[in-house]
Amino acid sequence: MAKDYFFNEEHDMFRESVRRFVQKEITPRIDEWEEKGCYDRAIFNRLGELDLLGLKYPEEYGGANADIKTSIVFWEELSRCGGLGFVMSVMVQTDMATPSLAHAGSHELKQKFLTGAIRGEKLFSIGITEPDYGSDAASIKTRAVAEGDFYRVNGAKMFITNGTQADVINCVVRTGGPGSKGVSLLLIETDTPGFSVGRKLNKMGNHSSDTAELIFEDCMVPRENLVGEENKGFYALMGGLEMERLSGAALSYMGATLAMEESIRYATERTQFGKPLMSFQVLNHMIADMATEIEAGKRLAYHAASMYDAGQRCNKEVSMAKYYCSELAKRVCDRAVQIHGGYGYMREFLVERLYRDVRLYSIGGGTSEIQKNVILAEMGLRV
Ligand SMILES: Cc1cc2nc3c(=O)[nH]c(=O)nc-3n(C[C@H](O)[C@H](O)[C@H](O)COP(=O)(O)OP(=O)(O)OC[C@H]3O[C@@H](n4cnc5c(N)ncnc54)[C@H](O)[C@@H]3O)c2cc1C
Repeated sequence: MAKDYFFNEEHDMFRESVRRFVQKEITPRIDEWEEKGCYDRAIFNRLGELDLLGLKYPEEYGGANADIKTSIVFWEELSRCGGLGFVMSVMVQTDMATPSLAHAGSHELKQKFLTGAIRGEKLFSIGITEPDYGSDAASIKTRAVAEGDFYRVNGAKMFITNGTQADVINCVVRTGGPGSKGVSLLLIETDTPGFSVGRKLNKMGNHSSDTAELIFEDCMVPRENLVGEENKGFYALMGGLEMERLSGAALSYMGATLAMEESIRYATERTQFGKPLMSFQVLNHMIADMATEIEAGKRLAYHAASMYDAGQRCNKEVSMAKYYCSELAKRVCDRAVQIHGGYGYMREFLVERLYRDVRLYSIGGGTSEIQKNVILAEMGLRV
């Protein structure tokens, strides 16, 4: 394969080592986790042991202080396991639930929680969505009322990844009045009395990852667990959103990449009318379309990553990458199933799983419609 000059030699060496680890220790377990509806918790300890959970975080807390390109290499190689649900669970730990803590949390809070997350000892969830509020996250109702040194938390969260096994929920709670200026971020440990998992949710895809409804009933949480300042939870959350969307973009173009690779393999081996499927132009043009769209999406994500590494604001670019890549993943996986014919509809073929898994990415982590609103706002065009 030609060298990609977006990455340097250090990135290439890191890629090789992650690839070997994934082939040996993750890929062989995906079918079992898909069947079970969740990964084994112990894999997070292993990822922590290998220093893979804190790539971009400061060394002070056990991280590697690496650039975002290093995270991209990690996401790309981890996705090669073919169990994108599991990959999403890891991303929740590294790029969705902990960035706000790293960005806005106190030194003490980071020492206690971020260090544990990086070692794989504390499994994290991010709790934003509620049964009645998804895209309209600024309206969430879960309430945290200050009482002495504690907050009394009451409410519920919906669709929470890692929810059945998490040790800590980085939870958006209402501490003030209505709207985004009345919410805070609070770390809630799941062994706190009053916390419970309402139910594990059955879903269309991403079966190697658990998703749960969480309930808080008079849950007393120390006030020191507040991430950043009271009523500035949205500010803290925004500090991590770029990484969340970028990782979502990577997960999407990698799902598409795997589907394309499977299609090439299948269309080369399968013959009909005495010829390989690959010789039919209508099919090989589908592959050319896939390759072109994936390359465009990937370069959009790489461009946003370069801006991030250069310390530039890239809210618009990460939203474009997340929107474009999650939509292209659906198109590519749909064509991949078509190229596989009836076999593409069968559980034992990877494209069947990818088709179901990638359907999530234009919904979770901010829908495509919401990404478009962000893009317009960044262009100064919001109506
Ligand atoms: C498997 C899975 C895992 C998830 N993991 C997590 C997690 O770990 N933590 C977490 O907090 N959440 C999680 N989510 C929730 C996810 O982020 C939300 O589903 C998503 O933000 C959309 O919210 P909603 O489902 O309530 O849809 P709604 O907000 O009700 O939207 C329904 C439709 O209306 C559209 N819409 C809404 N508002 C507008 C608007 N202003 N303009 C145009 N269109 C609009 C949406 O784009 C969508 O098409 C997960 C979801 C799933 C399915």
